[in-house]
Amino acid sequence: MSSSEPAEVSHQSNVSFASLGLSEVMLASLDAAGYQVPSPVQAGVIPLILAGRDVLGQARTGTGKTASFGIPILERLAKPKRGGAPQALILTPTRELAVQVRDEIEKLSAGRTVRFAALYGGKPIKSQIVKLEKGVDIIVGTPGRVLDHLGRNTLDLRELKFVVLDEADRMLDIGFRPDIEKILRRCPADRQTLLLSATVDSVIKKLAERYMREPEMLDFSPKTKSVETIEQFYFTVDQERKFDLLLKLIEREQPAQAIIFCRTKRGTDKIQIKLAKKFAGVDCMHGDMNQGMRDRVMKRFRAGEVKLLVATDVVGRGIDVTGISHIINYDVPESSDDYVHRVGRTGRMGREGVAYTFVTTEQGGELTRIEELINKLLIRAEIEGFETVSTVKSTATTAPTQVRFFGVPPATPAATESAPAPPSAPAGPPKMKKKHRRAL
Ligand code: AMP
Repeated sequence: MSSSEPAEVSHQSNVSFASLGLSEVMLASLDAAGYQVPSPVQAGVIPLILAGRDVLGQARTGTGKTASFGIPILERLAKPKRGGAPQALILTPTRELAVQVRDEIEKLSAGRTVRFAALYGGKPIKSQIVKLEKGVDIIVGTPGRVLDHLGRNTLDLRELKFVVLDEADRMLDIGFRPDIEKILRRCPADRQTLLLSATVDSVIKKLAERYMREPEMLDFSPKTKSVETIEQFYFTVDQERKFDLLLKLIEREQPAQAIIFCRTKRGTDKIQIKLAKKFAGVDCMHGDMNQGMRDRVMKRFRAGEVKLLVATDVVGRGIDVTGISHIINYDVPESSDDYVHRVGRTGRMGREGVAYTFVTTEQGGELTRIEELINKLLIRAEIEGFETVSTVKSTATTAPTQVRFFGVPPATPAATESAPAPPSAPAGPPKMKKKHRRAL
């Protein structure tokens, strides 16, 4: 590692593509793509890759990260040979992302002869093998299918100059770490390795230490995550009463379409089965379902046939449907970043969206971390039968688990009196308890 913490990078980019030392053919294809100036990620990453450095970039989707590695890879490709082995391997967590990345780099390869192959599961392997036999320059694929090809000796990695781990955090979340390591061990030692990840934790750093050569670390993550246009509420509720609350909420809100996020696959299945007894148009999606099943559910969700989709984070992250009116976090997400991803599924294309998060009394700290990340307070919501009791004393006698009480008692009675109103009677900005306010 060149440093223990990533360098902060400004989100303003004042450089031009020409000043990055790109070829005429590249500049022409960027022009054709309508890319006028490099995004900050591109301005930061492209020169480093062109200089032969390994790069660990903290950047999420929508920052232009794909072109940040796609452009220099295209610039450094040797002239394709017939039957030639791949020169670049890009690993992605999902097949959807593999296709997206392939399309983006293919678009930027205008004016050159570059052969691509997208290798992912859920598709017959035979046609991929035929493609590989003819010669491919850039491979984009998911770790499982890439490993499958390696096992069959249908993929030759000996000529690789670049390996990219795109959305590395997501690949590790899905459990691809052993596959990634097996693949990396098969890659030539003198390759360049590029790692892009929305979050960089100790596991990612360890991976980088083991498989990258003095990577340059750059942080392009925004200081505050923005889900500003979305109304965001929370309920405090007992674990055992969550399902009843969910029913009440759906009955009251009548969502056009909602995603109900759960932490576990089993929990997702359970909620779906119970909900389907009460409402029509209920389905679920999680990582144990095969790609075909997931595609079918997505299709029905897109068509509006599924109104209530119960999902886990891993699959929920990629859902891009404009009609989603409600996000319901049945379980608080494990990481605050996931909260932003979940809530970002609604309020798309200028539509209004609303998000409700079910918080148990032990999860006050988790709620605070989310609020710090989005730099906004969630508004306390109430619904008949799930009213919040606002003093410590009364919790003992009435509903002890419905108080937002994060280990510190409310500072003064006045502080609790000024607590935010429920959404049915919106008032001024929500106020926080002392400890909470200080945390922001
Ligand atoms: P990504 O973060 O790679 O998913 O890219 C997000 C979107 O931004 C994609 O639709 C790209 O086509 C687009 N894009 C990437 N770089 C630029 C650029 N320099 N100018 C305009 N659009 C861009």
